[in-house]
Amino acid sequence: MRVLVINCGSSSIKYQVIDPASGERFAAGTLERLGEERSHEEALGALVGELSEHAIEAVGHRVVHGGARFVDAVRIDGEVLAAIEACVPLAPLHNPANLAGIRAAQAAYPDLPHIAVFDTAMHARLPRRARTYAIDQELATAHSIRRFGFHGSSHGFVAQKAAETLGTSLRELRVITLHLGNGASACALEFGTSVETSMGMTPLEGLVMGTRSGDLDAGVVLRLARELGIDETEHLLNKKSGLAGISGLGNDLREIQRAAAEGHDGARLAINVFAHRARKYIGAYAAVMGGLDAIVLTGGIGENSAPMRRRILQRLEFLGVRIDEDKNQDASVSDDDPVFDISSSTARVKTFVVATNEELQIAKETAKVAGGDTEVSQKKPIPIAISARHVHLDRAAMDALFGEGSELTHYKDLSQPGQFASNERVNLIGPRGKIERVRILGPLRPACQIEVSRTDEFRLGVDAPIRRSGKVRGSAPITLEGPNGTIHLEEGLICAWRHIHMTTKDAEDYGVKDGDMVEVSVSGRGRDLTFGDVLVRVKDSYRLEMHIDTDEANAAELSRGATGALTYTDVEGDGAVIQQRRA
Ligand code: ADP
Repeated sequence: MRVLVINCGSSSIKYQVIDPASGERFAAGTLERLGEERSHEEALGALVGELSEHAIEAVGHRVVHGGARFVDAVRIDGEVLAAIEACVPLAPLHNPANLAGIRAAQAAYPDLPHIAVFDTAMHARLPRRARTYAIDQELATAHSIRRFGFHGSSHGFVAQKAAETLGTSLRELRVITLHLGNGASACALEFGTSVETSMGMTPLEGLVMGTRSGDLDAGVVLRLARELGIDETEHLLNKKSGLAGISGLGNDLREIQRAAAEGHDGARLAINVFAHRARKYIGAYAAVMGGLDAIVLTGGIGENSAPMRRRILQRLEFLGVRIDEDKNQDASVSDDDPVFDISSSTARVKTFVVATNEELQIAKETAKVAGGDTEVSQKKPIPIAISARHVHLDRAAMDALFGEGSELTHYKDLSQPGQFASNERVNLIGPRGKIERVRILGPLRPACQIEVSRTDEFRLGVDAPIRRSGKVRGSAPITLEGPNGTIHLEEGLICAWRHIHMTTKDAEDYGVKDGDMVEVSVSGRGRDLTFGDVLVRVKDSYRLEMHIDTDEANAAELSRGATGALTYTDVEGDGAVIQQRRA
């Protein structure tokens, strides 16, 4: 297979034609001065002729920001384009250019599959604790302020090369990758998943870079903004900081190293700060992963600067990192021979220099999506909501528990329109134990319904049936204790049947109808799981969302913001398997 890889900037398009299996490159080049002399469409249109001999089968597009939505490469359709567009505020310099490239390439190659490969996707499963900034969470959610991470194709590629060299799977390894180019970032890959990375909401956080500052006290930003204004501060931190800012020279480390050798104080300081920051991240990431098997250095600096590697990797013996300085000096890598081991024979942790190849990684991911069974993965992911135990009351129970004529008071809206969590809580009392302060959801319903997990049932000492909402006839008994009294219900306690709320339009898109049972798969959190017997509930007032309880979520290691993929449909909804979507 031959893949055309396109990396589109605002004024240029870099392209390569690659065989993803062998890594062989058949063509490469840069289309420049776009926007001035010719449009993206014209440039790519002309390229089609030049590349016609190559029998290209798919086009892979580098897209910088995939936001929270894209956890993998995807085939581009109208909906995906709109979602990339929606990420423009997160990457105002990059995503518009990427979109222009996609549109131009679609015009040039209307019959080929176009695949978007995101710099952020590899970090999409960062644990919540790693992706959260310690600020007001409502504000953070409203403005998508969270850590995303970048350089995913590079971190993924070089980590994989290291694993291959070690003769094992990434799933067996804890690896720290340092991509040290003009942009620089570190990544902690714990058993194949990115669990920490140094770039955050934007590529400005983390390591010292050619012209970017990396980590700063936010107070510094405020101070600078007061002194210089916002735009000047942004320019300063992105374009005039980092190695260039400290040294007062350019951003080229070679020049800085030469000046340092001649005694230039700024150059020496720049090198020291750069190395110190990188070493600090290695220690931090080893702690985050609770251990370390390999370190990988890549990017222009990581691949080429032996002195910088030595500075970064010194005094890490306590972690088991030990460099052979002769090997470090000799290290040389290329696309044909991409891995060089610089560890000493006594090192517990292996250290590799690896030539990164983001285009090849993009080509590989493109081939995987273009060649694979994409029907399933292309469908809109289903947001998953985790329901804690909760109570629905009827009028009579409300009166008995909280006083005649009392009303639920609003705590916060739930995702399904009209539903809300109330401030009121009750205790659940079973024959074996009691669960206190269980929240009541409003509004009041025609019948009481108490939804608990299997774990809760054990605490209470009751066997509750698994029921769909509203079907409480013949369910389990439970005692409720409120501030105004206690009532015993002969029925009402259930373990909720996992289900998906969706609109008629969603149902059409997924090819299902109300009452169908489907399967939903979740992956990427180290406890991949396919939920069977998921009930489809269709109503136009619903919002697309799958509801599971805390036991089900824990079984798949899911947290807020998780999504699943509809993988399988049993259209009749009676247990008979009618249609299987996945080959
Ligand atoms: P980009 O992020 O733009 O792709 P690269 O990965 O090409 O950047 O890295 C560019 C950086 O690598 C520059 O700072 C350059 O000084 C540095 N670099 C390249 N070769 C050497 C070398 N032999 N010694 C030191 N630094 C080098």
